[in-house]
Amino acid sequence: KYDFSGQVAIVTGAASGLGRAAAKAFAESGTAVMLVDRDQEKLNSLVDEITGAGGKALMLAGDVSGEQLAKTAVEQAVTEYGSLDMAYNNAGILGPMCPLVEETGEGYDEVNAVNLRGVWTFMKHELIQMKKQGSGAIVNCSSLGGLVGLPGRAAYHATKHGVIGLTKSAALDVAAQGIRVNAICPGCIETPMGDGIDPSAMQEFLKQQPIGRMGKPEEIAAAVLWLCSSASSFVLGVALPVDGGFVAH
Ligand code: NAD
Repeated sequence: KYDFSGQVAIVTGAASGLGRAAAKAFAESGTAVMLVDRDQEKLNSLVDEITGAGGKALMLAGDVSGEQLAKTAVEQAVTEYGSLDMAYNNAGILGPMCPLVEETGEGYDEVNAVNLRGVWTFMKHELIQMKKQGSGAIVNCSSLGGLVGLPGRAAYHATKHGVIGLTKSAALDVAAQGIRVNAICPGCIETPMGDGIDPSAMQEFLKQQPIGRMGKPEEIAAAVLWLCSSASSFVLGVALPVDGGFVAH
C-alpha cells in the first residue's frame, strides 16, 4: 500500500469502472482527489463514499473533450489542495462497434472527442501545472486496443493507438523536468463498458486472455498507482499492458 498523504490527483471518468476503482485506491492511500465525469449523480455518491471514509474529494461534472473543463479541474484542485501531483486520464467510450465501412462520421468524431481529445485537454492543463511545480506523474488510459487491431472496432482502436502517441511525445517533452507520463493498456476488465460488447465477441476475447478470466478494476488501479509512485521512478513513456497476457498471446 502506498502513502500518498499530502498529494493531489485528478481522475477522469471517475464515476464508474476503472476510474472509480482508481479514485478509491488513491483516496485510500491518502491522496486528495479531484473527480471528473459527465455523470453528476454517480460522482456525488462516490464523493460521499470517499469523504464518509475520512478521505478528501472534490468533483467536477462535464465532458472531458472541452478544454475549459480541464483547465477548471486543475485550477480547483490547486486552489483547494495546493498542488497537482498525479493524474489518471481515464474517461472513455467504445464508440461504433461495426466494420469500418459501416461507421458513421458522427460516431467516429464522438469516440475521438472523448478518448483522444479528452486525454489531450487534461494532459495539457495538468502539465502546465506540473511544469510550474517541477514534479508530477500522469497515467493515460489506452487499451489492448492501443497495441493490436481487432475487427469491428476501428475507431476505438485508432483512439487508443493515439493515446499511446500522445503519451510518448508528451513524456519526452517533460522527461527532464521531473514529470513522468505513461500509458496503461488494460485487457478485458469487468466494468459496465463490457455491457456494450456482444456476448459472443466477449467469449472470443476471453479465449485470448491466457490467464483465463476477466480482470478486476482494482487490478488496473494497482498498476496506475504504481506508475504514479516513486517505485516506478525510472519508468516513462511506456504503454504498459495489464491484460492477463492478451498481447503476449
Ligand atoms: P465505464 O463505462 O465503466 O466508465 C467510463 C466513465 O467515463 C463513465 O463514468 C462515464 O460517465 C465517463 N465518461 C464517458 N464519456 C465521458 C465524457 N465525454 N466526459 C466525462 N466523462 C465521460 O468504462 P471503463 O471500463 O471503466 O473504462 C474506463 C477506461 O478504460 C476507458 O478509457 C476505456 O476505453 C478503458 N478500457 C477499458 C477496458 C475494459 O475492459 N473495461 C479495457 C481497456 C481499456
